[in-house]
Amino acid sequence: MSLKKTSRPSASLAFRLALSLAAVVGACLAVTFVAVYALMVSNAHRRVDEQLRHEVSEVASLLSPQGVEALEGPLARLAQAEGTDLVCYRVMDRVGAVLAKTDTASWQWLTINRQALAAATREQPYYESVLRNTKEGEARVIYAVLSDDRILQVAIRTFHELEPLRDLRHRFLVIGAFGVCLAIGVGWIVAKRALVPLEAVTDTALTIAEGHFEARMKPESRDIELERLAGAFNAMLDRIQSFVRELRDLNDSLAHDLRTVLARIHLAAERLLSSRPIAEEQESLAVSIVEESADLLGTLNTIMDLSEINTGVAQTQFSSVDVTALMVELCEFFEVTATEKGIALEFDSTDHAVISGDPNRLRRALANIVDNAVKYTSRSGKILVKVRSENEVVAVSVEDSGVGIPEEALPYIFERFYRADKSRSREGHGLGLSLAAAIVNLHGGNIQVQSEEGKGSAFTISFPRPPSTLG
Ligand code: ADP
Repeated sequence: MSLKKTSRPSASLAFRLALSLAAVVGACLAVTFVAVYALMVSNAHRRVDEQLRHEVSEVASLLSPQGVEALEGPLARLAQAEGTDLVCYRVMDRVGAVLAKTDTASWQWLTINRQALAAATREQPYYESVLRNTKEGEARVIYAVLSDDRILQVAIRTFHELEPLRDLRHRFLVIGAFGVCLAIGVGWIVAKRALVPLEAVTDTALTIAEGHFEARMKPESRDIELERLAGAFNAMLDRIQSFVRELRDLNDSLAHDLRTVLARIHLAAERLLSSRPIAEEQESLAVSIVEESADLLGTLNTIMDLSEINTGVAQTQFSSVDVTALMVELCEFFEVTATEKGIALEFDSTDHAVISGDPNRLRRALANIVDNAVKYTSRSGKILVKVRSENEVVAVSVEDSGVGIPEEALPYIFERFYRADKSRSREGHGLGLSLAAAIVNLHGGNIQVQSEEGKGSAFTISFPRPPSTLG
């Protein structure tokens, strides 16, 4: 019967917000890293290209009238100075026939690019990057045209330039992963903080749903938007509450007026009944007016009682109530009707259970439960009423072997005017259980039902025991 406040209603939303933030941070870091990495690679290539041009001009200065054949010696010295596995020179003609070259023992894999031979011009040398394998890295190659229209190919290993960048790539990955984790953490905290007002709205709404209509959101907040939300929410609640109050006042005054009129009709019909002589037809009409008006008066009184209890304006006189004695009295009262229907009504209690309460209201509430048990149990059925003092509660249970309540009706039976028996074959207005539940609530207790259609029902009403009676 009670709605529970969820401790963290926005958990999934906060998580999704945190993930979204992490995705944005991850994407930004990725774009930045890729851009920075590309820039650094291009800078490294530029530096290597400069070095290649420098090599070309050095070779060009070595050219002598004896022709390219005389270059082999100076080229070999140049290559040895830098390391033959780091640099390699080849001089060739336009069709790729090699005329002079340095030690190419560690450069066997470097082929001659025919397209480069054709594309290179005096003004515009041809550059390319050649990847040998991922372990040994790449080489940067230039094809430059010498003054005698020979083509000079110079290749330099870029290992020293690019290796630090590879290291950086790993560092970027680690920093990126750390950034994403940090963004999830920070996003989670920020989202949780941002959603606090939403949780406050939910908690307030749930508190109201539990019947505490005066509950409001705390208006003070550091953020102007949240302060406005609390203000708007509270203003809406005030408006609804005043509207509900007006409606309830209207209902109450209508019920009050109707009760006065009905009481007069009831009295007039009773007077008519007691007047003599009276025709048989008039007598039967007067009897049915007395009965109907008494029934309607009872219903109106119940509605007004319910309204008083639910709005908290009911006048209550709490005293010590012996629940066991009260149930004995009720069982004796209902035994007459039960016996007429052939129902066995049993009572069972081991002690005298005492609670603090309003005796008249408690009698009405518990009488409704026993009355229902008798009403909804067929001939030869059985009703067992038990009273027990258990730990900190006094529990009254009423079990019957009656018609039972359909499962789909169970959530609604404590609502006003709800009747599970759609055929309306039995007397009643669907108010007994809602009044019983309101009275039990007023005493800080709770009411539970277990039922199986066709097999019977068991109502258990628990009241808190006054501290003075606890052992
Ligand atoms: P009513 O005046 O119709 O009895 P109540 O509020 O007392 O109204 O009960 C609401 C509905 O719950 C009833 O109409 C009935 O269908 C169902 N009900 C209550 N008690 C029992 C019971 N002991 N056995 C079967 N159905 C029950």
